[in-house]
Amino acid sequence: MQTAETKNLWSKFPKIELHRHLEGAFDLKTLFRIARKNKLDVPVDFPSFKNEFQFPKDSDPDFHLFLSKFKNNWYRSLEDVYTITYESVKSFKKDNLFYIELRFNPESFAIFNNFDRAEVTSLVLEAGNKAALEIGLKIKYLITFNRGQRDLDYFLSLYEKLLTINKPEIVGVDLAGDEVNYPVKQFTKLFTAVNQDRRYKATIHAGEVTPSSEIWEAIKLHAARIGHGTTTIQDPKLQDYLTDNRIALEQCITSNYQTGSWRDSKTHPMNPLYHKGVPVTINSDDPTIQNTELSEDYGKAEKLFGFTFDDFVNLNLTAIQTSFITSSEKETLQNGYLEAVGDFKENAAQPKLPIY
Ligand SMILES: [Zn+2]
Repeated sequence: MQTAETKNLWSKFPKIELHRHLEGAFDLKTLFRIARKNKLDVPVDFPSFKNEFQFPKDSDPDFHLFLSKFKNNWYRSLEDVYTITYESVKSFKKDNLFYIELRFNPESFAIFNNFDRAEVTSLVLEAGNKAALEIGLKIKYLITFNRGQRDLDYFLSLYEKLLTINKPEIVGVDLAGDEVNYPVKQFTKLFTAVNQDRRYKATIHAGEVTPSSEIWEAIKLHAARIGHGTTTIQDPKLQDYLTDNRIALEQCITSNYQTGSWRDSKTHPMNPLYHKGVPVTINSDDPTIQNTELSEDYGKAEKLFGFTFDDFVNLNLTAIQTSFITSSEKETLQNGYLEAVGDFKENAAQPKLPIY
């Protein structure tokens, strides 16, 4: 168990996050309000709603239970989409994020009401940008394609359509969803197009519950980062390749426990891979569904792996270096980040830091 004091301390530590799904990071009170307003079949009191929407904190790992928490029928108007995005991004303040590449799946926001996908995408950006500005968070976005939700031709035309909205805040494309039944190879056409267009970089969920061969497949499709990639630990050649080519793993301790991808957090690959020099980053994945916060994963990494203050700074610098922004943007971000970390060290962390 983390003490309230350490949890509080890690909440104040400035963080760079590369792997967080908006659909898994909703502000729960806002979602409850929207669900009630739209007369959806949900519990009438908030605690029961919370129980139904979140993964139970004391539950054993359960991949299907985890997935069952994602729903996309909440919205009845574009205003609902705007509101849930705005309130959710505002709620990220509790983790003191400094920079985020927030991913979302326009199809999930649009499918129930058949909203225009480009319009929904622009709206999410508008709401997210406004909220981020208000809490002093720097934000960029990744567009998620969810395996199995639609066929490949549909994904290709959606990708083409979204290119037309031409928003510089979108910096990448992500492939998520059921990696067991939809291997990376099936999406070659999509990622070939992404690579040829040179507009966006790619990150692919791979090696979360599949062998490292799927990570190699993702690399063949020009993935510049890998979502989870826990099975990298079984493949020394892959570890070397990721290190030499600075392809980062976006790792998520609590999420991996709940889905059963890595059941013993003490032995989570983040620790040995980090010490081998493989670029790893620390992320939350779906904090609301997981009933957790990114700050709690920091606490776990401190307690279980013995990560120090300097280790956490290193992990965050790796995240900056492997983010999808330009080199000059990275430099500016890094300078600002180091300043924020300096402030944290001077003010928040004194006098009783367990991490020195
Ligand atoms: Zn994910």
